[in-house]
Amino acid sequence: INASVMDGDKFDELQTELHEQSEAQSALEKLQADRKTLPIYRYRDELLKAVHDHQVLVIVGETGSGKTTQIPQYLHEAGYTKRGKVGCTQPRRVAAMSVAARVSQEMGVKLGHEVGYSIRFEDCTSEKTVLKYMTDGMLLREFLGEPDLAGYSVVMVDEAHERTLSTDILFGLVKDIARFRPDLKLLISSATLDAEKFSDYFDSAPIFKIPGRRYPVEIHYTKAPEADYLDAAIVTALQIHVTQSPGDILVFLTGQEEIETAEEIMKHRIRGLGTKIAELIICPIYANLPTELQAKIFEPTPEGARKVVLATNIAETSLTIDGIKYVIDPGFCKMKSYNPRTGMESLLVTPISKASANQRAGRSGRTGPGKCFRLYTAYNYYNDLDDNTVPEIQRTNLANVVLMLKSLGIHDLLHFDFMDPPPSEALLKSLELLFALSALNKLGELTKVGRRMAEFPLDPMLSKMIVASEKYKCSDEIISIASMLSIGNSIFYRPKDKQVHADNARMNFHAGNVGDHIALLKVRSMKRARDIRDQLEGLLERVEIELVSNPNDFEAVKKSITSGFFPHSARLQKNGSYRTVKHPQTVHIHPSSGLAQVLPRWVVYHELVLTTKEYMRQVTELKPEWLVEIAPHYYQLKDVEDSTSKKMPRGEGRAS
Ligand code: ADP
Ligand code: MG
Repeated sequence: INASVMDGDKFDELQTELHEQSEAQSALEKLQADRKTLPIYRYRDELLKAVHDHQVLVIVGETGSGKTTQIPQYLHEAGYTKRGKVGCTQPRRVAAMSVAARVSQEMGVKLGHEVGYSIRFEDCTSEKTVLKYMTDGMLLREFLGEPDLAGYSVVMVDEAHERTLSTDILFGLVKDIARFRPDLKLLISSATLDAEKFSDYFDSAPIFKIPGRRYPVEIHYTKAPEADYLDAAIVTALQIHVTQSPGDILVFLTGQEEIETAEEIMKHRIRGLGTKIAELIICPIYANLPTELQAKIFEPTPEGARKVVLATNIAETSLTIDGIKYVIDPGFCKMKSYNPRTGMESLLVTPISKASANQRAGRSGRTGPGKCFRLYTAYNYYNDLDDNTVPEIQRTNLANVVLMLKSLGIHDLLHFDFMDPPPSEALLKSLELLFALSALNKLGELTKVGRRMAEFPLDPMLSKMIVASEKYKCSDEIISIASMLSIGNSIFYRPKDKQVHADNARMNFHAGNVGDHIALLKVRSMKRARDIRDQLEGLLERVEIELVSNPNDFEAVKKSITSGFFPHSARLQKNGSYRTVKHPQTVHIHPSSGLAQVLPRWVVYHELVLTTKEYMRQVTELKPEWLVEIAPHYYQLKDVEDSTSKKMPRGEGRAS
């Protein structure tokens, strides 16, 4: 009896297994069929022939035509992966992860095996990996270990039109290695039509155009400028939902916080609309969205419901969401801006360019006629928006890139083959900073400190803080702080309905007013921070810095922090604001800081954020004499003497 029962169980098990297999099989068949419906599919053979015939090829095709997901697969099918990997770069980490996941599904393999991705602090590849999606910054770092990219048979610099700093530097490096590696194929792919510029730069490389199908998009403008674009966007989305025919909505917002606010308000207002309204599914997407939630935006919308995707710029060209029929474009994005005079960098909400506005509108016309609601006037569009976004290289701090190029042995930065050169002032400023951090010597050559710093995939000030921790015997604490700072602003999660609770919990970490950096040290439970920490630990070993803990000596920890961040020092003013020391500017301690009520006389900060005021985020108290002790070539005694003890006429002695 027992035997027959077991047989019965086994039989069921087998049946289930067979059923699952056939389901997986048919899912795979469906995916294969879908691949053939993409606009790029008709050009597969032509494209492969062009790759075969030319070493460098510029590829242009509308967003969603299949460039990112299909071209690497075509190359694999054509045998290119027998001689090396196919690498495909993305400016955004979410795009790299999401596209790799999709391609692994299409190929019916496990993510991380044949198809993988590599983003900073997360390597999801293996020995088997032949199609590797990665951020442009990661490929840049691979040059440090393998200057000729010998492991690759094809490099595809994707989303080239985004012109991120890393992509621009990659252009120069891949152009250079293509000269002595005739077997390396180089693809530069872009969603916009300024391909001539790429072609010119790559010695007149041929341009392969993939004609997209594009349906007409009706553009609507507002009659008058909107005072509150967030509210206008929410109202417009709900109006579409109530009055317009089926089709999903895509709303472009500027960042995580704004998206969370919009989601909250929308949910609230939908409840007020009663039960007769069709279901509205809200899907947020931004860079720090947990991986599990990212997949949600791609799930097909159930019959009778409507989806509204609240996205950052990431949905402009990096990710294509099927089924979008309505686009709401408030006309803003968050953009880095850099002042080379002061060396200060901040993220600002900025009007988008006409090119961006047109990309955004285009997202609504992929599968049928669409509508785009621009929350600005036609006059604004024609007269106020720039034609194109300024490339990042012209509006950012270059210290990181300069350090990397120096460690690649590229010394003559003024003559590097830039597609658009950075302002020489900005280059100079980075050299100055690296010199101040002792990463370069007076001749501009890399020092031992600089060589060690370059091993860390971090901003130079953070790397310096780590390297300096050797001297203060607290590398253990410092890499914990560095890993927490690296995961960004998401450490203290602040759910909208539990804010008081969350703030109290956070304040517990501030007991004793030890400062924000040290408070970070105490919250060490997050997994991602742990992973990053493990990697930093590995890198410490590589640069031969011993892992030493100095748990009771906060002064040592603060001195290490100061060793990296001394250019970010500020002094308290009588009115409770602060004045930065080197390039005097008024700043404030961010209200979320544990020191916001304490107001120490002297502080160093991690970064500045401009909201209603210029705020310092992640702040630690320091003693002014440390500045002279740690950075004698940067600060003189007169910089740090208290203004009460020595009166100096305004502006004097500050010229630098
Ligand atoms: P392009 O790079 O030309 O903009 P893609 O190759 O990214 O085009 O997209 C081709 C198709 O693959 C689109 O229809 C898109 O919706 C789909 N796709 C891409 N990534 C995913 C994903 N993670 N999940 C589901 N579908 C995806
Ligand atoms: Mg793409």
